[in-house]
Amino acid sequence: MTGMPKEKFTENAASIMQIIYPEDVPEFMTKIRESAKSLSYFFHVFRCNTLKGTIWIEARATPNRLKDGTTQWNGFLVDITERIISEKRIQESNNRLITVMNSIDAIVYIADMETYELLFVNEDLLKAWGRDIIGQTCWKTIQSGMDGPCPFCTNHLLLDAAGNPKEVYQWEIKNSTNGKWYDCRDRAIRWIDGRMVRMEIATDITERKEAERALFESENKFRTLFSSMSEMVALHELVFDAHGKFVDYRITDCNEAYTFLTGMEKEQMIGKLGSEVYRSDPPPFLDDYAEVALTGKPNHIETFFPLFNRYLSVSIVSPEKNKFATVATDISEIKRAEKTIEEKNEELEQIIYVASHDLRSPLVNVDGYSRELEYTVDDFQKVLEKGAPGSERVETLLRLSRSGRAALNIVALDMDALLRAVLSSLDYQITTSGVQIRLSPLPSCLGDEIQITQVFSNLIGNALKFLDGRRQGVITITGAVEKGCSVYCVEDNGIGIAPEHQENIFQLFHRLNPQKTEGEGLGLTIVKQIVVRNGGKVWVRSEINQGSRFYVALPMNPHTN
Ligand code: ADP
Repeated sequence: MTGMPKEKFTENAASIMQIIYPEDVPEFMTKIRESAKSLSYFFHVFRCNTLKGTIWIEARATPNRLKDGTTQWNGFLVDITERIISEKRIQESNNRLITVMNSIDAIVYIADMETYELLFVNEDLLKAWGRDIIGQTCWKTIQSGMDGPCPFCTNHLLLDAAGNPKEVYQWEIKNSTNGKWYDCRDRAIRWIDGRMVRMEIATDITERKEAERALFESENKFRTLFSSMSEMVALHELVFDAHGKFVDYRITDCNEAYTFLTGMEKEQMIGKLGSEVYRSDPPPFLDDYAEVALTGKPNHIETFFPLFNRYLSVSIVSPEKNKFATVATDISEIKRAEKTIEEKNEELEQIIYVASHDLRSPLVNVDGYSRELEYTVDDFQKVLEKGAPGSERVETLLRLSRSGRAALNIVALDMDALLRAVLSSLDYQITTSGVQIRLSPLPSCLGDEIQITQVFSNLIGNALKFLDGRRQGVITITGAVEKGCSVYCVEDNGIGIAPEHQENIFQLFHRLNPQKTEGEGLGLTIVKQIVVRNGGKVWVRSEINQGSRFYVALPMNPHTN
């Protein structure tokens, strides 16, 4: 073992002392003295300088007290150099491993796969848990609230059927002790002492998880909004040719309202070119859309889409360059209503025209024209008799020729006379219905005689038409000057009008009981139009089953009132 001759040691056992490493001598001496004194078993490891170099020796010997009082040891000296070196190497590599594990920016622990004892935890884990947990059971200390190995333990996933380590197993978990999310990489490794252990490297991904969750929530929120919107939304991207000129657009997403409009499935549209989907090349509104997608400046178009047979109001916005979204509202109904209103207005114009020209009460006509004729004859007579100078004569003749064409001829009206004329034109109805008419003295006002006659013959005509057959009919006509207006009231004690209908009755063709009475639903519309044209107002106060009062306010006559 030492490469030295046997005699060197047989002659004097103490020769061994000469080859022990000087630093190891004191300890050796202490131990051997102790053994000699108490006759205890001698065990010691020390280094020796031999001819073969430095070696590690393990000494085991039993002491015996001899008769002469000296001590003799029987035992072995074993060269354990190899073992020491390999143990050292393991220790070094273990230290290196621990250094590496401590420098990883993650939690690392190693646990016995059988007993769940923690054999190693790195500094990150110690810091995070704030106490030393080596030697404790992993499921009791790393997790909380467990009454046995964790149900999600990955141990069984780390070894193959033959009990050999498998690949790294990666998973994510929210820790029950600190509530943080970890990305875990687990694998089975053989520990220094030969047993199989699990090593887990867990990276804190709480922030990422939070961000993911927030993103998911916002994505979810907008997705719900997107799909439940009644507006038709579609996202597109521009398609360019080899020269960089836009030639088409591609649909990248659309909502349910949009598929409903087009009558196509999402799959038939998403990823498809506008030219394919809308069967036109270039696709509809390519230039308008491209401008928004390229400049980012939003735009708005309102047009009829023959393909869908609908009027759409479309807002175009660009969420990022070369992309655009269209948000369309179906305005077909509004357009249709607008058209109806236009048509109704046109009809109304016609009616007013007819009313003011053709539906004149014959009596008023005769009366008016005969009076007009009288004046004219009078004027002619004066002009001819007096032989007025040239200019004045021409002037008068021109006025006469114009008067017939004037559409609206506002004059001071003698309302007592006007109402008497209206009543006498309705004389037949009044007599047959046995109604009682009360006409009070009325103030004068300004208006077109023919048209105002029409107004009152309509109102009194209605009063007669809607009397209540169960009682004596009474129609009262009164008037007063109020705040610069002459206000007239046609009152009846007829069937009355329910409050909810009082606004509508002035609308065109609006009738409350079409089957019960005759009429077109025109009368009150004409009344309102005429009164407004003459600078006045009309309104109603009525109580069902009691009667109605129709008020007409017209500009007062400044000379008489
Ligand atoms: P119509 O030509 O059908 O009489 P109007 O425009 O004159 O149409 O009147 C519209 C509706 O208003 C009538 O159909 C009737 O229901 C109601 N109405 C008008 N005047 C009276 C009234 N004096 N009393 C009760 N209802 C009336």
